[in-house]
Amino acid sequence: MAGESWILAHEAQIRLGFFVGVFVLMAVWEILAPRRGLLHRKSVRWSNNLGLVVLNTVLLRLVFPAAAVGMAAFAQSQDWGIFNYLDVPFWLAVLVSVIALDFFIWLQHVMVHAIPALWRLHRVHHADLDYDVTTGLRFHPLEILLSMVIKFAVIVVLGPPILGVILFEVLLNATSMFNHGNVRIPSGLDRVLRWFVVTPDMHRVHHSVEDDETNSNFGFNLPWWDRLLGTYRDQPRAGHEGMTIGIRTFREESWCSWLPGLLSIPFSRGTAGYAINRRKWGESE
Ligand SMILES: [Zn+2]
Ligand SMILES: [Zn+2]
Repeated sequence: MAGESWILAHEAQIRLGFFVGVFVLMAVWEILAPRRGLLHRKSVRWSNNLGLVVLNTVLLRLVFPAAAVGMAAFAQSQDWGIFNYLDVPFWLAVLVSVIALDFFIWLQHVMVHAIPALWRLHRVHHADLDYDVTTGLRFHPLEILLSMVIKFAVIVVLGPPILGVILFEVLLNATSMFNHGNVRIPSGLDRVLRWFVVTPDMHRVHHSVEDDETNSNFGFNLPWWDRLLGTYRDQPRAGHEGMTIGIRTFREESWCSWLPGLLSIPFSRGTAGYAINRRKWGESE
């Protein structure tokens, strides 16, 4: 298909274009209509969060130069994966691949909350003391690599069209910046939107310091998995303006806002009181 080969040839530019476009859009929207006042220095948070993004981009290119798209092309050339054996229309294969990849990212997200060692990594995303577009981009390098390996496994089993993988990567990147946006959306509109996409108000619940609220709304892109599988929560108890963002055990800027702290979070302080088999009911933290 002519359109597909053009997209494959310009994959890097397309991804960069969407990233920059959505990022600028969200950054301006956050200034024009913020949902909450920021409690910590934006200049410090932004420079360090974006510094981590640059570091992750370089690292990912070094370790997995071909990335998910390369793996999809390889799977196709080897006839690996379900879609290389099914005779389904191209558009249906793209659609199902995007939805399936989104489900596995949801499942991975639940897993990094449940398993103590993985929660150590994922804490870097949650330790941000404020919640805005840059929060959606900050992940520990080891979590980024783990995420890519899991994507490889899904691609090898699924054998998705390469276009489906590119579409998914662009969508996930864009929706992650959108749903971490510190932006005000009228509640009526939010209610309609969250049947189709995870909205900022929906995902913000997941960034609460309250354990039961953190263990809700794991979706990044499609909101259906949380609703179908019982992890959906409508609003935070304290309200969006009153709720506290972050993790109880990491409250200092040196850990939560500065790059050396962010990189060290997985290797310091235990996971007592949160991770799945570390909880003792009735005992204070
Ligand atoms: Zn999370
Ligand atoms: Zn998040």
